[in-house]
Amino acid sequence: MSLEQSIRHYKDAVELMPGGVNSPVRAFKSVQMDPIYIEEGQGATMTDIDGNSYIDYVLSWGPLILGHADEQVVNALQTVTAKGTSFGMPSVLENKLAQLVIDRVPSIEKVRMVSSGTEATLSALRLARGYTKRNLILKFEGCYHGHSDSLLIKAGSGVATLGLPDSPGVPEGIAKNTITVPYNDVESLKLAFSKFGDDIAGVIVEPVAGNMGVVPPVEGFLQSLREITTEHGALLIFDEVMTGFRVGYHCAQGYFNVTPDLTCLGKVIGGGLPVGAYGGKKEIMEHIAPDGPIYQAGTLSGNPLAMTAGYETLSQLTEKSYEHFNQLGDLLEEGLIRLKEKYNIPLTVNRAGSMIGFFLTNEEVKNFETAQTSDLDLFAKLYRALIEEGIFLPPSQFEGMFLSTKHTEDHIKETLNAFDRAFQKIS
Ligand code: PMP
Repeated sequence: MSLEQSIRHYKDAVELMPGGVNSPVRAFKSVQMDPIYIEEGQGATMTDIDGNSYIDYVLSWGPLILGHADEQVVNALQTVTAKGTSFGMPSVLENKLAQLVIDRVPSIEKVRMVSSGTEATLSALRLARGYTKRNLILKFEGCYHGHSDSLLIKAGSGVATLGLPDSPGVPEGIAKNTITVPYNDVESLKLAFSKFGDDIAGVIVEPVAGNMGVVPPVEGFLQSLREITTEHGALLIFDEVMTGFRVGYHCAQGYFNVTPDLTCLGKVIGGGLPVGAYGGKKEIMEHIAPDGPIYQAGTLSGNPLAMTAGYETLSQLTEKSYEHFNQLGDLLEEGLIRLKEKYNIPLTVNRAGSMIGFFLTNEEVKNFETAQTSDLDLFAKLYRALIEEGIFLPPSQFEGMFLSTKHTEDHIKETLNAFDRAFQKIS
């Protein structure tokens, strides 16, 4: 296999952009190789600029739940594009997508469209703070909610202390308004609320964590969050940017039957175009401008292309799509466990519907600390061996694999055969 063209273009790119990329993980640093430049995608596969093809489990980091270049999405986009790309004025397309989101997401009675997941979460935090007239936010270690100041925060030393900046450029004054506690840890959550409960505006959580690898909530965790926030008058915010329309037809909140006050969406809701959204109870959403005093706006928010890609994507998903994901997910999970035994490789598989994660450790992974027991050098070796086999995984241990409606049993079988050969090579 040759990656010559990719390597050549990356050499040019590093002179043009920081790290040669427009989003850090695309630089493939943690798998110790140069990035792969993609030429095109069709269904469940992608082809790079050297002509190598791959079964794709990245799917643009989640949005492409119908696979690449879905015919209905592409045709609708062509029709809409010919009429103009943006007006900055209301269009009926916004009503169509908003209605669909309200019908499908249990917690959402009113929704505001934005252009990324980061915008959705930072706007939801502002709303939670403005609505409750409180300043503190509680988040969980290892959860990622975009790159806004309040959310790029690591834990302070000790349980239930105020946060510290996780990046230069985030002022300490902002960081100390974010409390960080371990994921799946109800005791630490209770401790934080006993200390700061009256000042906490909201708790933001990935209902299935997908940014420390895939880590599902333990039994009762989301229910406890619902009870504790209600008891203290704080808002519960589900960041469903990754899980929304992926973990279940009614998102993770439908799947786990826990209804938050606010929900953030992104990825699948845009079907591959830049879209995010946040929504919730009417009574809370009516505090957003121009109904209320809490300000948030966007030049390209709700633009016709983004609304079309989102609508044409969501409207093709049915309850059956999720049965398909579960069947394929089961196959992949069972196959990986069989290979773990065959090669005696340390391996733990975590799954929630079509979000699948594996860690190269034998520890049960239920929070950031246990996720970090994964063997990262072994992961990098496995990653490169799988690329040679034509399997495209996210180039980081701390990301999940995704399935699309275009993935088939044959793709999964081919993938397991590739894992078999890759495990043989690295063990
Ligand atoms: N929240 C979650 C759960 C995410 O996974 C991401 C992106 N991976 C974001 C927020 C940020 O979304 P965006 O990259 O569109 O700003």
